[in-house]
Amino acid sequence: TADSETSLRIALQKDGRLTDKTINLLEGIGLQFDNYKRSLMLKCRNFDVELLLIRDDDIPEYVQDGVCDLGFVGANVTAEMGADVTTLRGLEYGMCRLSLAAKKDGIIKTVSDFEGKTIATSYPNLTRKYLEGKGISSKVVTISGAVEIAPRLEVADAVCDLVSTGNTLRANGLEEIETIFESETELIRTNKDLSPGKKKLIEKFLVRIDGHQQAGRSRYIMMNASEENVDEIKDIIPSLKSPTVMPLAEKNMVAIHTVIPIDEFWEVMEQLKSAGASGIVILPIESMIV
Ligand code: ATP
Ligand code: MG
Repeated sequence: TADSETSLRIALQKDGRLTDKTINLLEGIGLQFDNYKRSLMLKCRNFDVELLLIRDDDIPEYVQDGVCDLGFVGANVTAEMGADVTTLRGLEYGMCRLSLAAKKDGIIKTVSDFEGKTIATSYPNLTRKYLEGKGISSKVVTISGAVEIAPRLEVADAVCDLVSTGNTLRANGLEEIETIFESETELIRTNKDLSPGKKKLIEKFLVRIDGHQQAGRSRYIMMNASEENVDEIKDIIPSLKSPTVMPLAEKNMVAIHTVIPIDEFWEVMEQLKSAGASGIVILPIESMIV
């Protein structure tokens, strides 16, 4: 197992929707490695980490079995497999939902209409469990890809498929009826015992991830204002600590610097302008260690 070695072994998707974002995240927390498109296994140059690039379907099992210590994978995949792993973090990318869908303007309009129907899906376990929970019995047909064309091929009456915008469903004449599972990319950890060294490495890794995530949700903002407007501006800025206020060369003018959460960003901008702030500059933040 990976535990017999010193470095952390981390699984991620080799080639798919999550690959670039996961690599960006790893680079964003300061890890350096060579061109990842070329190999299956990559050693990190400046952190005791080894990446294993595999199909996403294999990730939960590799982590469960301790072949990898950590993995980046959609919650949908881990849940479908029923893998015995621990979710350490939700990572706010690869967001999607698993939804029951049927022909637009067809006879299936609500979830109870799935009774006795045939449903094509790549997620038979989650689909069955959901329907059983509702007391609905349907026939579930497992298809590994292109699930959305099954109704047109008359292989199934309906589907249970991953949706993000809904465009694929619509393009295939399908209509979403019910969401059965909400998903995002997660960082999962093996439940196998790890050496103290590896546990420490995971702690370090998580501190960096948290700093990066928090930074992604925040902006550093700078603005100028006259001294008499500072109090009003301070009241508007919702941020945690008091802003930094520094005198400018121009008399009675100050520079105000602070960090604000991105959600409050635009709303606050408007208010700041009307409170006399000018020369507002917004900068991304690389990491935040609180
Ligand atoms: P692999 O070859 O690794 O098995 P895949 O074809 O199973 O790849 P992708 O299509 O790359 O998987 O999707 C990977 C993950 O991206 C999904 O498991 C899901 O968590 C997430 N995802 C986000 N939006 C969507 C979407 N609209 N359709 C499918 N998956 C999505
Ligand atoms: Mg897959």
